[in-house]
Amino acid sequence: MSTEKQPHSLKAETLPYKAEHYREWRRRQIVRMSITYLAPLIILIVYFHYRYIGIEAESRRMQLGAVAEHQANTLDLFLTERRLNLANLIDHPRFSIPPTSREMTEYLTDLKRISDAFVDLGFFDATGIQVTYAGPYPSLESRNYRDEVWFNALRRSEDNFVISDIYMGFRQQLHFTIAVSRIYESKLIVLRATLDPARMYEYIQSQQAAGDVITSIVNAKGRYQLVDDSIGRPLGPCPISVPVEQQYGGGTAETGRSKWQYAFRWLRNTDWCLIVKSVADTGTIFSNLQIRSMLVSAALLLISIAIILNRSKKLVSQQKRVDQTRAQLEHASKLASVGELAAGIAHEVNNPLAIITVESGLLMDYTDPQFGLTLEHSELRERLQTIQDSAFRCRDITLKLLRFVRRSDFDLKEHDIHKLIDGVIVGLLGKEIEVSDARVVCDYDRSLPQLTTDGNQLQQVILNIVNNARDAIAGKPGEINIATSRRGKSIVVSIQDNGSGMPPDVLEKLFVPFFTTKDVGKGTGLGLSVSYGIVRSLGGEIEVESIAGEGSTFRLVLPIKSKRSINRSRNNQ
Ligand code: ADP
Repeated sequence: MSTEKQPHSLKAETLPYKAEHYREWRRRQIVRMSITYLAPLIILIVYFHYRYIGIEAESRRMQLGAVAEHQANTLDLFLTERRLNLANLIDHPRFSIPPTSREMTEYLTDLKRISDAFVDLGFFDATGIQVTYAGPYPSLESRNYRDEVWFNALRRSEDNFVISDIYMGFRQQLHFTIAVSRIYESKLIVLRATLDPARMYEYIQSQQAAGDVITSIVNAKGRYQLVDDSIGRPLGPCPISVPVEQQYGGGTAETGRSKWQYAFRWLRNTDWCLIVKSVADTGTIFSNLQIRSMLVSAALLLISIAIILNRSKKLVSQQKRVDQTRAQLEHASKLASVGELAAGIAHEVNNPLAIITVESGLLMDYTDPQFGLTLEHSELRERLQTIQDSAFRCRDITLKLLRFVRRSDFDLKEHDIHKLIDGVIVGLLGKEIEVSDARVVCDYDRSLPQLTTDGNQLQQVILNIVNNARDAIAGKPGEINIATSRRGKSIVVSIQDNGSGMPPDVLEKLFVPFFTTKDVGKGTGLGLSVSYGIVRSLGGEIEVESIAGEGSTFRLVLPIKSKRSINRSRNNQ
């Protein structure tokens, strides 16, 4: 195997966190950016989509209304013209009464020249007999129309004209009647023409914008008079019931699976209502413009998603670079502190080792027959005791050092924080506290929840801090207050003493390994650095406040987390 030293590199393996951490981080970035950028975009798209649908429906309604009005006016004009064609004839001074067949045929030819909707022409006397007839149904001549609806309506009419609904009549063909009347020698005379509805429909269809709509005409009873084959048949029922009292209007109707908008307008000449509906259904299919705007929105969304994914990827690689740099810095500073640590160890271990060397050397001299020295048992015991004490001290230092360096496995369980504190005060320190000058006062918040932690390690931390507080009080009567409380999602254990307190320069180095102000043999300077490591591993913090000469407060801020999340944050450290 090669022993060549490898240069430090910025490879992924040198990252302080696992790949899972960055995946999670990227996921969170994506969610955050989506909320920031995508959510408003989606809200805007939905808003404009609905606004657009509303505007489109409104403009279609207005357009349909305009077409309905235009066509109704045209139809009204058509009917008025046809009526006036007849009225001009019957009112003409040279109109012979009754007209001859030849005259009637001439009149019909003239009328047909004006409008090809005219089918035939008949002259009626007051009793309803068709006296003269011109047209394709000569058998209708001499027939009595006394009981026909249109004839009776005309007799009652004050306007001297009638336009009938569409009906089959004697000839069994769809047609409708326009009849005009006047009084001649105190008797009613009537001139009537029948018209072909199909021709009239063709006329409407030839009007402007007729291609965009389907036009139908219904009578006051809701029966189709004119209708396109695609939506109904003449004289059949119309599914829309148009209000009679309203001159014009519109709405939405449904037939089968399709939904469509319509507008209606009543005619002025007769009780017919003209209805127009848009050729395209609404609600079931999207208009071209809608599809286009949806495609643009989808493209916008896709672009935004692509930008977010790309940006999050860049952010992750940026973060990785930052973490790598930080890890390298930390590594460098660790190397530096190893030097300091080594110096500390040397200093701390050297003293007991020197004692052991001196004492063991003395004992060897005593036991060397060459010197002829004698040693009392009690003195021998005393010296051996000194050697053992020094050896124990070395062991303590190495144990603490190991704990500081090694990440021992935590035994995480749910604990009652108050039982843990009592365990330290009564169980571990009991006697020592009793004989010391310090009085321990506890003020617990009993409503605190269970804490997931390593009980032994946390007790060791509390023990260290209480011991330091006791040492700070030593010599004069004092008090150690231990209180628990809740701060957000954490439990706070505060340990306050009114001992010596610390000046700022001590406070600064508090957590530095081997930093101590205690006499040789009394302190190792490892208590707080070890405690700090433990609390950080449990996901918590240690806060310290101190005023020299007045006392100090140490606060352990311990998160109330689940076992999983503590382990996760430990792995990420
Ligand atoms: P050690 O107790 O072995 O000295 P620690 O790391 O526990 O090591 O403490 C480091 C130093 O911090 C102590 O020597 C002392 O100067 C200071 N210190 C710690 N706690 C207190 C306290 N409550 N009051 C005053 N000084 C303190």
